[in-house]
Amino acid sequence: MTKLSDRIKNLAESQTLAMAKKSRELQSQGKDIISLSIGEPDFNTPDFIKEAAKKAIDNNVTRYTPVAGILELRKAISEKFKRDNNLNYSFDQIIVSTGAKQSIANVILSMVNPGEEVIVPIPYWVSYIETIKLAEGNPVTIPTSIESNFKITPDQLKKAITPKTKMIVFSTPCNPSGSVYNKEELKALAEVIIQYPDLYVISDEIYEYINFGEKHESLAQFDFVYERVITVNGVSKGYAMTGWRIGYIGAPKWIADACEKMQGQFTSGAASISQMAALEAVKANPSVTFEMRDAFKKRRDLVLNLMKDIPGLKTNIPGGAFYIFPDITYYFGKSFNNYHIKNSNDLSMFILEEGNVALVSGDAFGDDNCIRFSYATSENILTEAVKRMKETLAKLN
Ligand code: PMP
Ligand code: GLU
Repeated sequence: MTKLSDRIKNLAESQTLAMAKKSRELQSQGKDIISLSIGEPDFNTPDFIKEAAKKAIDNNVTRYTPVAGILELRKAISEKFKRDNNLNYSFDQIIVSTGAKQSIANVILSMVNPGEEVIVPIPYWVSYIETIKLAEGNPVTIPTSIESNFKITPDQLKKAITPKTKMIVFSTPCNPSGSVYNKEELKALAEVIIQYPDLYVISDEIYEYINFGEKHESLAQFDFVYERVITVNGVSKGYAMTGWRIGYIGAPKWIADACEKMQGQFTSGAASISQMAALEAVKANPSVTFEMRDAFKKRRDLVLNLMKDIPGLKTNIPGGAFYIFPDITYYFGKSFNNYHIKNSNDLSMFILEEGNVALVSGDAFGDDNCIRFSYATSENILTEAVKRMKETLAKLN
């Protein structure tokens, strides 16, 4: 252990994955755990996508691909950006990676120097902060609240920027709050960003297709800020393809080139068969994702409704993704047997051990007042999970 590098010693384990692992272990011991910890659609990958993968194997698309991705896929992603997001990225501005997670790591490791600051609005997705730390950057967080629907204002952004600021990283729709920035809000943030010539933004749009309100809006659509934005997307969430591990960026070419170089040393590129499957996904009419989106919306409404019966939980109404991020401070200071609830971690452990429901504590996302509940599972399971939560929380006083 002591022989390990400081780098790995200082790296926190991904808490979403840690909670998923813990639930699997408890399940394998025969415990009836409902796991709402990991953010992963419960749907199967659509058949036409699976067929493309089978064909790729039969056609021997089984060798190393170009590091940046199969040309046909990069061209299809370029078309997708035009079709869905009004973004002009030529194929050589696109890098295909082993999941959006690697896309983000490529960009952060390619851009951030030791000591540079990276602004991350709270609540944030777990891996942003740790990846910034790996790059020896300093994460600088901006707090938000349910009242602001967990979104930052241009004024807050401006105040967080210092001469050391290199980047901003955020997601819309947001994991874990489900908040979606509309066009005006993005434009207002872009107008701040453009005042600082050395400032870049990672706009993580992996939940693009899981959006219950207006059309998805991309930050890079504003020409005046296009050169400063790295747009991250992928097939994991919208197409129920988490295990295929395909994500991608559209970025200024010099940034894309740097990511290609990084990935050439780390992975040699994403799996050939997964790339051929992703090609079918991005080429298809996005309407293939609508059925899943509609199911997620129904589940969101169901869970929000059921949660109204649990005293003390306060929530925003998530506009996208598949998470609810309730404020649970009502339960702080309460106890049951040996459980004394002081923070979100205590509460998630209590709900897991006493109620057999696995959630992720808000501190993993930078907000210790909340807890994350993923509703990417069936309505029956969700109904049972909320019932268990209600009964378990009722034991605290
Ligand atoms: N960004 C966000 C906000 C996410 O929730 C996830 C979930 N895994 C990712 C990126 C990474 O996705 P992928 O499975 O494509 O690596
Ligand atoms: N993004 C998902 C989540 O937040 C998957 C787990 C992960 O990649 O960390 O649960």
